Amino acid sequence: MQYLSTRGQSAPQSFSHILLGGLAPDGGLYLPAEYPRVSGAELDAWRKLSYADLALEILKKFATDIPSVDLKQLTHKTYTAEVYRNARAGEDAAQITPLRVLENKDGRKLVLQALSNGPTLAFKDMAMQLLGNLFEYELAKEHSELNIFGATSGDTGSAAEYAMRGKKGIRVFMLSPHRKMSAFQTAQMFSLQDPNIFNIAIQGVFDDCQDMVKAVSNDLEFKARYKIGTVNSINWARVVAQVVYYFRGYLSATTANDQKVSFTVPSGNFGNICAGHIARMMGLPIDKLVVATNENDVLDEFFRTGVYRVRKSSETYHTTSPSMDISKASNFERFVHDLLDRDTDRVRALFRKVETDGGFDLSGKPGSDGDEFRKVAQYGFVSGKSTHQDRINTIRDAHARYGVTIDTHTADGVKVAREYMTPGVPMIVLETALPAKFNETIREALGRDAERPAGFENIEALPQRFEVMAPDVQQVKAFIARHTGL
Ligand SMILES: *Cc1c(COP(=O)(O)O)cnc(C)c1O
Repeated sequence: MQYLSTRGQSAPQSFSHILLGGLAPDGGLYLPAEYPRVSGAELDAWRKLSYADLALEILKKFATDIPSVDLKQLTHKTYTAEVYRNARAGEDAAQITPLRVLENKDGRKLVLQALSNGPTLAFKDMAMQLLGNLFEYELAKEHSELNIFGATSGDTGSAAEYAMRGKKGIRVFMLSPHRKMSAFQTAQMFSLQDPNIFNIAIQGVFDDCQDMVKAVSNDLEFKARYKIGTVNSINWARVVAQVVYYFRGYLSATTANDQKVSFTVPSGNFGNICAGHIARMMGLPIDKLVVATNENDVLDEFFRTGVYRVRKSSETYHTTSPSMDISKASNFERFVHDLLDRDTDRVRALFRKVETDGGFDLSGKPGSDGDEFRKVAQYGFVSGKSTHQDRINTIRDAHARYGVTIDTHTADGVKVAREYMTPGVPMIVLETALPAKFNETIREALGRDAERPAGFENIEALPQRFEVMAPDVQQVKAFIARHTGL
């Protein structure tokens, strides 16, 4: 399987080659030359598989340059009940992403798929845990090392650190805005004592952190010398790992392949739902893919109107579902590429226009950049948005009616999912975090604390290890140089 850039001007590459990288050299995102198709017979056989073996079957189709025996070892090391141990009472941890039926009325079934039972209590563990093992495997093969450098406002950084802790050949340097994360998120990251994890608290806001990451990425000499890499949401292996739970969700919610399901996905950078799109392109019988946003509604606007208009920082709101507070959806280019029938010249032109004019318009109206919006429905996509008050109401309602506490991001999903329920088609809402991570809003909604999984009771009291630094690129570079010994 070869990988091509959405912008059409980079050489084809193998899975292993793009594993450790980010963007293609032409600024595009990698996609497989064609999507592998899954037959009905395969789907039948997959119904009986464990999560680790299902992940193996799907990875085999994409990572064709890694021997199957090695992939098997990697998926079996990653998807264990021990790693995904934070299942709620009544959930079977061995299922990895267990389903819970919330409602089944007049043939309308609302189901929650738990993706947040991993070490950091958010769905990013689903892919990042595999990535940690894949990276360690590749680096050992090449006798090489990697220094992951990134910025986080919460979920991504902790998922990366928990995936890479103790891994041979890998160090993580993670910037976060000093005193701006929740106490729980801060404790999760800063309590790690592994010598290969470096937390750097920047005296500034998240944008300052991200600017510093960009400055280092643009310094090609520094990047090469210190073997700097990233693990952001455009990483192709992360997308592939996410494809697996769409298959798992479908297979667990159905008994035969002539049945369909829909998925609702709390979305920010379009990474999670992009994997759903790929699962559907592979032949998984998905009816609708419902994009749920919060007040930051860039994606909802596109799926309602065909206009993609990225937001300025001043138009990006800090909400109570903060992991969806994005102004520009970094994986969206992958879908647009398919929507435009893989016309890479047009993809390149449109995403240049995003840089120069802040967006593009595929509505088909006079003066627009195309009329492909009319084809969006063929891909199953619909959308909706949610507000803070909706989240509060939905958390209360879910607690009262189903006896389950959902987090704020999942609440955005449940709110929007209700708008698209169809009799006979189960609606699976992806649960992207456990409520303990966003306790402040749970208190506001329910007047009490969210339950914490075992082992997290006193996390804020653990000793913390971090470095405070001014938003100064030179200082950060010197810190990296000193700690890599390169
Ligand atoms: C990252 C994240 C999202 C958004 O996922 P995307 O892949 O960026 O669309 C939603 N919910 C939670 C809890 C997250 O951490």
